[in-house]
Amino acid sequence: MKLGVLALQGDFDMHRKALDRIGVESAEVRLPEQLDDVAGLVMPGGESTTLLKLMDTWEFMPALKKFHDSGRPIFGTCAGLILLAREVERPQQFSLGFIDITAERNAYGRQKESFETAGPADLGQGPRPIKMIFIRAPRIRRFGPGVTPLVHHNGECVMARQGHILVAAFHPELTDDTAVHTYFADMVRGASTR
Ligand code: GLN
Repeated sequence: MKLGVLALQGDFDMHRKALDRIGVESAEVRLPEQLDDVAGLVMPGGESTTLLKLMDTWEFMPALKKFHDSGRPIFGTCAGLILLAREVERPQQFSLGFIDITAERNAYGRQKESFETAGPADLGQGPRPIKMIFIRAPRIRRFGPGVTPLVHHNGECVMARQGHILVAAFHPELTDDTAVHTYFADMVRGASTR
């Protein structure tokens, strides 16, 4: 099983290192056709407006739609969450709409207000706290009925799943806690025929 990490901008390398730590093979995805070779995709944090421009330039949108329609799992962190949401506000911008949530950008303050914390999670192995780093993170303002909350911070859901789509407002790849990447790798194993 090989996972792809979208490598247009942002902290894709830290996701690859986190996957390395749990023994999961990964490859950088810089061109749409490289999606054909991977069983799941990580969309990293970065700057969602810049990512959108680059995705447009390299004509990623139809390939991502095809990837999604094939049932292969996608995990978006921070800017990746924003790109996967059904709606984005403050300001509004285009998004893929693969998960039925509304994301509000930069809702936890500016870069200098970035913070590290821990919060309750239930990722299938019983409830336990996980470490989280928030960097100009989005807030999930609305959840559709098909969306399952998985991790909370101050009573608010910060990681959620709908079918084969997983999103986190925080950066699990910047902590030494591999629980979130392990959870996503298990989702891919469950869905994978390749
Ligand atoms: N604030 C960024 C955005 O709106 C996301 C920040 C991040 O990915 N760390 O795209």
